[in-house]
Parts: sequence; structure tokens; C-alpha cells
Amino acid sequence: AEILLEVNQLKKYFPINGGIFGKRVGEVKAVDDISFFVNKGETLGIVGESGCGKSTTGRMLMRLIEPTEGKVLFEGKELTNLSDGDMRKMRKEMQMVFQDPFASLNPRHTVEKILEEPLIVHGIGDKVERKKRVKEMLEVVGLSSYHAKRYPHQFSGGQRQRIGIARALMTKPKLIIADEPVSALDVSIQSQVLNLLEDLQEEFQLTYIFIAHDLGVVKHISDRVGVMYLGRLVEITEAEKLYENPLHPYTKALLGAVPVPDPTLKKERELLTGDIPSPSNPPSGCAFHTRCRECMDICKTERPQLEEIEPGHFAACHLYKKK
Ligand code: SF4
Ligand code: MG
Repeated sequence: AEILLEVNQLKKYFPINGGIFGKRVGEVKAVDDISFFVNKGETLGIVGESGCGKSTTGRMLMRLIEPTEGKVLFEGKELTNLSDGDMRKMRKEMQMVFQDPFASLNPRHTVEKILEEPLIVHGIGDKVERKKRVKEMLEVVGLSSYHAKRYPHQFSGGQRQRIGIARALMTKPKLIIADEPVSALDVSIQSQVLNLLEDLQEEFQLTYIFIAHDLGVVKHISDRVGVMYLGRLVEITEAEKLYENPLHPYTKALLGAVPVPDPTLKKERELLTGDIPSPSNPPSGCAFHTRCRECMDICKTERPQLEEIEPGHFAACHLYKKK
């Protein structure tokens, strides 16, 4: 497979300022040295609890947040070195879909204006061509073109997310980074939007990074899945392997929280206990050790690195350390 996006040792440290002079008193390692790649045409799911750094990662790929360190390569081209102007041009190729479609759509603009905007920003087409594309895109996402003159508040949550998706597709991007695109929607609407995303992927040969807080949502849509915990990638592999044979105790715990449709198939549940530690003061060694049932002495002092445990299956856990 051909690689579309490559992420190398990406980090984002946010300063913590305190005291009356606002001096830097520490830092939050929101994303702490993660590396992964995305193949052309695939969907990579990225999953973790809130505060694990998944949204920050998504935004750093587009440089909506500047990385502290590390590289992002899109079709082999390093994005982290680009000037702001060149980066803006690159965003034609990579677009985001956000969790809350209402917050991300300007309430004072008609749908037509909202969808036209990315074309104007990137200087694509004349007025007639732009209007034509708006109508086409509305139909592609399952809305009628007569909706073009309406405002965001006149739509349901699911329809608004369709508008958000249409806006992301206006510039014919290759990569879509979807940050919890269905989390704010009713369960019945969620599957409609997921199906739409799958159809669009096929129709336009899109590559997706799909960010979610639970493994259930990304199960069917993902080719591979990465699991993040406190700013680190702790496991990544093909979706099938991850769900059938999870290696990392955190992934196992997350899967324990996924409802099993047939209760007779219920395996012994491994439940996730304890609160997520503060990202400003993460535990030493393996950041998961305060919640891990299999914690060993080494886990408290030595940080496990992400290693290939089985072919194509990477995990960061001392249980699998090769001697
Ligand atoms: Fe648990 Fe240790 Fe593995 Fe961390 S490294 S997940 S604490 S067994
Ligand atoms: Mg988030």
C-alpha cells in the first residue's frame, strides 16, 4: 500500500503558566512522541479517553495547532517546514470534520455561502461554477439543493453534520480528519452518518483519520486502529487484530466497556478502574501503571516503547518485552 501521511515523533507540550507574573511553572505533554502512518484509501481510527491527545494530534496534522517537535509528511512532503501561505494551500488536500457541526458552521451564513467559502479561499472556479458545485455537493451528502438558501439552525443535528461533511469535501481533498464526527448525534443518526462517510470514501477515494472516544464507533469503519493514552500511542494494528486479540491492558479494558450484542459470548470483563491521571503530572514509567491490573515493578520506572510484538501489531507494554 502507498503511504499518504506519515507522522514522526510528534510532540505537543503546552506551557502551564502560574503566579501573578504568569511565569512558566510546568508543561502539559498533550502529545508525547507519537509516530504512525496512514495508507492511501484507508481509514485509521484513533481512540482514547478525553484528554489523551487525540484531538490535538488531529489538529497538529493540519497545523491548526503547531507541533512542539516532530514531522508530518503528506505525500512525502514535510508540512512542518512550510510557510503559512504554503500550508494554507495544502489544506485544500486535507480537511477536517468536527464534532459539533453547529459550532463549526457560521449561523449568519446560508448553507450556500458556507459551502462556497472554501472554494473562494482557495480560488477555485468562478461564481457560476461555485454555485453548481454547492448544489452537487448538497446532493452528494443526501440533502436537496433547495436547502442552499437556508441557515444552519433550520437543520437537524444529522443534517448539519452532512453540511459539515459537504464543506470538507468542497475542495476535493485527499484526506479527511474527522474528530468525533458522530459523538454529538443520536445513535440512530450516527449509523446514517457513518454509512454516508463510507459511501463517500469509495466514491471519492478518500483517506480518513477517524477520531473517537470509544472503540465501538470506529469498529466497522476502520481498517486499522490506534489507541492513545495520556498523549502516547499505546497500541496500533489492523482493526480485526485489535478487536480479536488486543495486547495492551488499556485496550483490553476499553474493549471491556464495549457492549457485547450476544451475552452468551460474554468473556471475562476487564474493567477500567480509577480516574485518568492529570496530563500535567502523568505517572512515571508506563503512564497506565496506576490503573493497570498487570502492573509489574519495571512499569513504575521504565517507559515502554511502542514495539512490533506480532507482524503488523504494535504495542507499548513491558508484558511483551523481548528478552
Ligand atoms: Fe500494565 Fe506494565 Fe503494560 Fe503498563 S507496561 S500496560 S503497567 S503491564
Ligand atoms: Mg476531543
